[in-house]
Amino acid sequence: MVKFIRYSIEDSAPQWGIVNNEGNITDIEGDIYTQYKVMPNIINFERVTLLPPCEPTKIVCVGLNYSDHAREMNTAKPKEPVLFLKPPSAVIGHMDEIFYPDMSQRLDYEAELAIIMKNTVKNISEDMVDMSVLGYTCFNDVTARDLQTRDGQWTRAKSFDTFAPIGPYIVRDINPDKLDIKLYLNGEIKQDSNTSKFIFKTRKLVSFISRVMTLNRGDVITTGTPAGIGPMQRGDKVEVEIGEIGKLINYVR
Ligand code: MG
Repeated sequence: MVKFIRYSIEDSAPQWGIVNNEGNITDIEGDIYTQYKVMPNIINFERVTLLPPCEPTKIVCVGLNYSDHAREMNTAKPKEPVLFLKPPSAVIGHMDEIFYPDMSQRLDYEAELAIIMKNTVKNISEDMVDMSVLGYTCFNDVTARDLQTRDGQWTRAKSFDTFAPIGPYIVRDINPDKLDIKLYLNGEIKQDSNTSKFIFKTRKLVSFISRVMTLNRGDVITTGTPAGIGPMQRGDKVEVEIGEIGKLINYVR
């Protein structure tokens, strides 16, 4: 298992590193998407500012993808994935603030596993998905639930700035279809499931989406949320925790 992070030190240009066993950062040279070299220098974790772990050209989201959430919503399992987009302008990182918009009176969390693309691909088979994926991270599909209902389609409800918290690490070499996924609101557990409850497994999702649109390096695919969605208030602390990946923490402002 390898944990990549993207960070800066005192406003330096963004850099890549690997979180080592001691919890510090091993410097790398090059590009994690193509080729990189592990450098001898170690950077103290306390010195760095964590950045969102990738810079997507788009975030492709899946509507309903957990059997427990389908049961909770009293809806039948979808026959094929329902897709929508979030804009890259919504991306924020670990410990950044989610902005509660004046237009909404109901802001929900949705804990999700995110897939980060390694290569630019189109029309790939399920067999080709693993070699096209860089790794996995935590995602919060922040949603203005009242606007989603009122608008009848989802663009406004899903797209406000700060509505795409992602991170903190990109983790490689894990089984994405067998991970515990939890959401804590002010320390209280609200969502508690496992990605084994996916209606569409990750390989199937990536292959399906690649038959619709070209996926670029660094693009994000989020895989839907389990049962237990609910509202956040200003001042809340919200945490998405996924298996071996770690915890994505954000505050609502
Ligand atoms: Mg969602």
